[in-house]
Amino acid sequence: MPEGHTIHRLARDLNDTLRPHPIRARSPQGRFADGAALLDRTAMTGAEAWGKYLFCSFDSGLVLHVHLGLIGKFRPKPAPAPEPVGMVRLRLESDIAVWDLSGPTRCELITGDEQAAIVSRIGADPLRRRSDPEGARQRIQASSRPIGALLLDQTIIAGIGNVYRAELLFICGIHPARTGRSITDDEFDRLWTETVEQLRRGVRMGRIVTTDPDEIGRPRSRMTDDDRLYVYHREICRRCGGPIATLEIGGRPIWYCPTDQPA
Ligand SMILES: [Zn+2]
Repeated sequence: MPEGHTIHRLARDLNDTLRPHPIRARSPQGRFADGAALLDRTAMTGAEAWGKYLFCSFDSGLVLHVHLGLIGKFRPKPAPAPEPVGMVRLRLESDIAVWDLSGPTRCELITGDEQAAIVSRIGADPLRRRSDPEGARQRIQASSRPIGALLLDQTIIAGIGNVYRAELLFICGIHPARTGRSITDDEFDRLWTETVEQLRRGVRMGRIVTTDPDEIGRPRSRMTDDDRLYVYHREICRRCGGPIATLEIGGRPIWYCPTDQPA
């Protein structure tokens, strides 16, 4: 599933390639034909991400709301591009780029007020400037749910998915089953700082790279897929050499090191 860094990068790339002139919009698959007709020949004024939610505003006042969910993809090709293959819900086309959206859980047109209502229910986004983590701190420290589940709750912190939650908790030395209530102020501060830094790096690099180059012995730009994570889907801990364990938390498996993340 795409995590917050993917959606923020997507918004940036949409802004770079679809503005400022009117674009063409259509629904090759047909399921979004009416919506595409309303966007066709209007200009996108800005795309922005809130956690895993993507909003593209148009000069008509309409907002395209997209949530990719587990399997959705929104990918560009240079223009002009050949006819799409497969189930493309929406194609947006400028003079320089063609974007195909397929398999989203959400693709709808909403108003600015409806966007504001959705955003008000989303938690602090570590990738947005001036994002205030105090609400997230209070909700976490008041909760008896495991921190591993709280980090996936998009109404608390927006943008962390299954890979980042495992990596962040390992980096901060926090066992995923510890309750939110047991998280100290210092631990929360470290977790938030690390989240901001890691997700920003994810946007910059276009992939999740959480490991420290000094530990791996290679710069991040040259890391292989095997180098770039500490615990997610791994079997042996890079730090202590012990076995990585898994737990089912928040409905999904989480990987952690029982030695480096004591209960
Ligand atoms: Zn370890």
